[in-house]
Amino acid sequence: MTRTPETRRALTRVLDTMGGDVEISWQPPEPMTKGQRIRRRFAVDEQIAREHTGAAVYPFWSDATEDNTVAILHSTSDGAKDGLYGSGQKAALTRQALKPQIPSSRVSELGVVSIKVDGSPTSDQCLTGRPLMLAALEAADTRFVLLHGAHALHSWRPDLTLKQYAGRVGLWNKRWWVVPVPQVDGITTRRSEWSMEDWLRMVGRFVDLASGPDPFHHIERSCVHRTGRSGSGLCDVGASHWDEDAVPYCDQHWQGDQEKKQEVARKKDREQRKLDRGVLFDD
Ligand SMILES: [Zn+2]
Repeated sequence: MTRTPETRRALTRVLDTMGGDVEISWQPPEPMTKGQRIRRRFAVDEQIAREHTGAAVYPFWSDATEDNTVAILHSTSDGAKDGLYGSGQKAALTRQALKPQIPSSRVSELGVVSIKVDGSPTSDQCLTGRPLMLAALEAADTRFVLLHGAHALHSWRPDLTLKQYAGRVGLWNKRWWVVPVPQVDGITTRRSEWSMEDWLRMVGRFVDLASGPDPFHHIERSCVHRTGRSGSGLCDVGASHWDEDAVPYCDQHWQGDQEKKQEVARKKDREQRKLDRGVLFDD
């Protein structure tokens, strides 16, 4: 997608063609110059070095001269070797699945949490790493983020599960279009509920979204409220309402938990305002 003045403006679309009455607003970040990208990425790398001495995993940035980039947000340190994303089998598989529409020079890879060399991140660490993770997403200078694994999904929406939303399109903080997918290395285990074909189809959805002309075209159309005793199924009734993250609900389930949704929205607004004030950057 080219960056015309049109796409720089806040885009709001009323989804009347879907029979809904909702406005979904997209405020894509201002595009950066090559110099800005380099400065911001350097600032993020420095911050990571300060905060995580000895156990840092640095982002693997796209080529700074490339526009129209995408980001992959990894859930754990598994994709990283020698302190850098973009190496390792998981990263190789994911990058391969994005080709040929999205070449590796246009891909930035980031981590969702502060990483310990030995062991999984705790939820405390998730919170600690969050401002830095958002700053890294900004520095990636992208509009499309592949959420790789459950931690990455929960960075966007803690109330959704992979079962509910894997392979579906959403909008994060009004600025990044996202598609959550399960961890590729989990797919190969026998207890995974998804096959490799499922996984490739989900990544394909992201490729279509990121390389197509109109992200609004990809918004989901059926309710993702969980049903059944164990929450194993989805409502799947045609959606009539979308929240500001473009997550779809039918009439009945939209009425359900408005208060909860509003609290999530308020928290995100506060977070984004803080980020907009430029906690890390002053260029
Ligand atoms: Zn429903």
